Amino acid sequence: MNESESVYTPDALQRQALRTWHNGTVPLREQRIHALLGLAGETGELVDLLKKHFYKPGREATREVVMDELADVLYYTAILSHLWGFTFEDMAAHLAVKLADSHGWDGSGEKVAAQAAEGGQTA
Ligand SMILES: [Mg+2]
Repeated sequence: MNESESVYTPDALQRQALRTWHNGTVPLREQRIHALLGLAGETGELVDLLKKHFYKPGREATREVVMDELADVLYYTAILSHLWGFTFEDMAAHLAVKLADSHGWDGSGEKVAAQAAEGGQTA
């Protein structure tokens, strides 16, 4: 653990999620793999739900079921971020910095030509 990780404290949602997570006997590597697989699995459930919504007649997704699957994604995001030593607030701050320069997009769906021409990072 480096110095920046030593000041990390889980936020309220992470603490709540951690009450259902492994105890301290499971190695960190195994916990990270478990959380990663969980995140991929829950993301897959969301994708499948919305695939059916868009392509299978009679399988329209409701706001509630989309929220439920996204919440499952959030659960594993809470765990995985904890296992790497940062909070949702840390992620939000990081994202805000990335978004501050529009991250290469101009809001029209087109990459910002000027940034691309400068050879800037666009994705
Ligand atoms: Mg699910």
